[in-house]
Amino acid sequence: MEERVGLITGAGSGIGKAVAVKLSQMGIKTVLNDISKEGLDETLHLVHKQGTKAFAAVGDISISDDVDMIVDMTISEFKHIDILINNAGIIRDNWVWNMSEQMWDEVLDVNLKGAFLCSRAAIRYMGKQKWGRIINVSSISYLGNYCQVNYSSSKAGLIGLTKTLALELSQFNITVNCVVPGLIDTPMIKGINRDAIIRRTPLKRLGRSEDVANLIGFLVSHDADFITGEVIGVDGGLGLGIGL
Ligand code: NAP
Repeated sequence: MEERVGLITGAGSGIGKAVAVKLSQMGIKTVLNDISKEGLDETLHLVHKQGTKAFAAVGDISISDDVDMIVDMTISEFKHIDILINNAGIIRDNWVWNMSEQMWDEVLDVNLKGAFLCSRAAIRYMGKQKWGRIINVSSISYLGNYCQVNYSSSKAGLIGLTKTLALELSQFNITVNCVVPGLIDTPMIKGINRDAIIRRTPLKRLGRSEDVANLIGFLVSHDADFITGEVIGVDGGLGLGIGL
């Protein structure tokens, strides 16, 4: 894996930061994207401590020109792109009757369109080299969740994106898989009732960003060469049962 290059979106916080550390521990060079520089400095510091090369690429993944710029920077710095982690995501929660069109558009644009734009830009290079790995970060909320009609739709959409990309890109030896975290202890879930979630989780704790990063580390490794189009949970069992 030493020569591989991975682009991680939303790498300035939470899960993206842990994925950056995991990939660099595997000897993968990383391109760390986020919408602002804030957070990326700390991730860069953590990655450099592993002794692998990395640089920050600030940009908004919901804007096509930004995505092209990020991928162009990756190619000019590292010459190729092998791994894409579509991790950046946002929430704008409200009951459906109070959800504005803007709240819908913002969430769909970042969470779903962003993953499409990044994938489309990266496969131009992955396709030529006949090797690539794309991992989409969905959410257990795809099953349906109060006040998240925008978010759960975007995360369900990522599963369709994963499966169709897996079909279309298999001819280029690019695998595409989807991870489905439960509740993970990151800034995204500030304000949530942690005790209630822990009570409902069979393994009786919140997830850690590293739990998700470990799964992603496996999926981008050669041990996962024959896995594509899969949707894999990392939720301590939160998605099990029928809630009775
Ligand atoms: P987080 O701590 O909020 O990190 C997400 C990062 O993405 C933030 O740094 C955010 O910047 C950045 N971002 C937002 N919009 C962006 C854009 N347009 N372009 C580039 N970067 C952008 O959240 P997290 O918990 O690590 O979540 C990572 C992924 O896991 C998300 O897709 C989320 O939906 C998913 N997930 C999280 C949980 C959970 O319980 N935490 C559960 C299931 C799935 P700002 O902070 O400036 O917005």
